[in-house]
Amino acid sequence: VNILALESSCDETAAAVIQNGRTILSNVIDSQIALHQPYGGVVPEIASRQHVLAMERVIAAALQEAGLDFDGLDAVSVAYGPGLVGALLVSVSAAKAIAFAHDLPLIGVHHIEGHISANYLAHPDLSAPFVCLVASGGHSHLVKVTKGGILTLGATRDDAVGEAFDKVARALGLGYPGGPLIDKIAKEGNPDAFHFPRVMMEEDNDDFSFSGLKTAVINFLHNLSQKGEQPDVADLAASFQKAAVEVLVAKTIRAAKREGIGIVALAGGVASNSLLRETLQHAALANGLRAVYPPPVLCTDNAAMGGCAAYPHLMRGELMDMTLNAVPDLQLAERLGND
Ligand code: ATP
Ligand code: MG
Ligand code: FE
Repeated sequence: VNILALESSCDETAAAVIQNGRTILSNVIDSQIALHQPYGGVVPEIASRQHVLAMERVIAAALQEAGLDFDGLDAVSVAYGPGLVGALLVSVSAAKAIAFAHDLPLIGVHHIEGHISANYLAHPDLSAPFVCLVASGGHSHLVKVTKGGILTLGATRDDAVGEAFDKVARALGLGYPGGPLIDKIAKEGNPDAFHFPRVMMEEDNDDFSFSGLKTAVINFLHNLSQKGEQPDVADLAASFQKAAVEVLVAKTIRAAKREGIGIVALAGGVASNSLLRETLQHAALANGLRAVYPPPVLCTDNAAMGGCAAYPHLMRGELMDMTLNAVPDLQLAERLGND
């Protein structure tokens, strides 16, 4: 069963062909980072227009790489939310057009359901239940993935962790997108040079808060500049990163133990953070748990993850029709799992 999957929720135009839900035949990602870089963040109107320009070419490339034409497809899927509405509309419209023209079943997936499913592509033996930390530009959720669906255990009460990485990077003058730049420069810094708050780490719930941590770093920088001092960017990046990662890992491990679940997983763009991956791996080992995460290219936005998430929906006949629309604030309510 070959699914053509499309994704354009933010600033990546992406198409992939996924076979039987677990094998990547192609995974084409056209990133707009260079276009948005001068503005220090994603400009929605520029994103939409670029998706329109790139979508056809990206789809053609994904089919070619998979060695298929439209006749070789069994279904088409699209992440229809959450995301930027103008951006989402491009892949939603393209998916509907392809489904209509080639008489293919149409599947709508939740973008975060996709991020979580990337773990199945990376670990074909993976099977629910597992606890997954969704850490991305717009989400910091702890979820329980069961055979029946995805259950939200907790979420951030303010900023997403990726947002905190991006804003701290901007304050440090590192540029955009900030996550990978902090990851890189932190390797040259001392993570214990400064102590930033581990917000909510000891609280007995599965929620997060990253706005206080972000503000602590920004205030620290502000005080330095008032004294006319230069910040040690590497030390600050490393200390910020350690504070964020310690909270994420501690709460993920605690949730898994409380739920009596033996596997912890990572998903979303921040899941490509090297310290987060290392720290989770160590903590899991120390607690007798298995840790899994996708390779970095499947952590940040891509279409392959959506094709993986779409497969069980196709198998269960959960199809969309031509009324499918982009839903910018689509909720991760009960979505069905991938087993
Ligand atoms: P969402 O998935 O919540 O809708 P999004 O699609 O914009 O948001 P993703 O593409 O999943 O977000 O992730 C992008 C985020 O991941 C950005 O905040 C980016 O800085 C962060 N990120 C990417 N690589 C790293 C890294 N190595 N370390 C930390 N953060 C990273
Ligand atoms: Mg992106
Ligand atoms: Fe994403």
